[in-house]
Amino acid sequence: MTPEKIRAILNDNDRGHLETLAQNAQHLTRQYFGRAIGLYTPLYLSNYCSSHCVYCGFHSHHKITRIKLSPADMNIEMQAIARTGVQNILLLTGESPQATPLAYLVDAVLCAKKYFQGISLEIYPMTQVDYRALYEAGADAVTIYQETYDRQRYSEVHLAGEKRNYDFRRGAPQRIALAGMRQISLGALLGLGPVAEDLASLYQHLRELEKEFPGIEYSLSFPRLRTIKAQEFAAAHINDTTFVKILCLTRVLFPRVGINLSTRETASLRNQLIELCVTRISIGSKTSVGGYLEDATPRDPQFDIADERSAADMIKYLKEHSFDPVFTDWRRIENS
Ligand code: SF4
Repeated sequence: MTPEKIRAILNDNDRGHLETLAQNAQHLTRQYFGRAIGLYTPLYLSNYCSSHCVYCGFHSHHKITRIKLSPADMNIEMQAIARTGVQNILLLTGESPQATPLAYLVDAVLCAKKYFQGISLEIYPMTQVDYRALYEAGADAVTIYQETYDRQRYSEVHLAGEKRNYDFRRGAPQRIALAGMRQISLGALLGLGPVAEDLASLYQHLRELEKEFPGIEYSLSFPRLRTIKAQEFAAAHINDTTFVKILCLTRVLFPRVGINLSTRETASLRNQLIELCVTRISIGSKTSVGGYLEDATPRDPQFDIADERSAADMIKYLKEHSFDPVFTDWRRIENS
């Protein structure tokens, strides 16, 4: 789909057209996913970062307390998450191969294997060999967002560090697939670059991957930029109606692809989108390192959470609305 067509859909204020789009999205979601909603919880391992992305609270010039979880703290935090019943964990770090090298990440995956059936990673882009090492340790999935596909904008907002390398990031999903991972999540940070162009490029990226690696399970995420404390970054505002259109349009274009939604969004919007097209949600999230520890001291989050419902409340909500909360659809096997 061209950026012009996407722009026309996003700018179309006809309520009837929006209603039709939403109904089509809902119909396709029920057809291919039923009322199953996959659940995962993010765990921030480290906020060390040697990159400078102007929109992020963890960037290298930001004066925050830098911390990474020790093996003991990882265990405690993972136990706390596992007690909620969630069986899929997303392990995140900033981009600092010095602070969180491959060996540290392998240890984190090995620790997660004790508590979870599904282990996903949202980390800095790696070589195929390193992704393979994480796969063999037990990781199944990798999330990697290009943020914006617009090269000019990309260089304006990524001022320093490894993340400046657009092409190495753009090529990461291919290396992840070649390393053997079974799931890949792609996305664009909405509000960072030109929206219609970013969506067209994201869809094109996914089409290329589907063609080259048809056996991979793909999902898409559309994080909207949120204000970060002490951050002076002006972002284009994507309003709720446009956001709903983007997710519904994505469902219509990709009927079988998972759509993820994080706690960046408010409870009421998440409730609405679960009805229409979202198939996987984060629950009970903390976005600071050490956030699940019982005596957690307040620390700087990567972004502020909008849906603060507990995991138990979210699960209750889903059941009361006839959704099937899916704690895991995967039984861990040895990756080799
Ligand atoms: S977005 Fe990632 S790479 Fe950029 S500053 Fe934040 S943690 Fe670092």
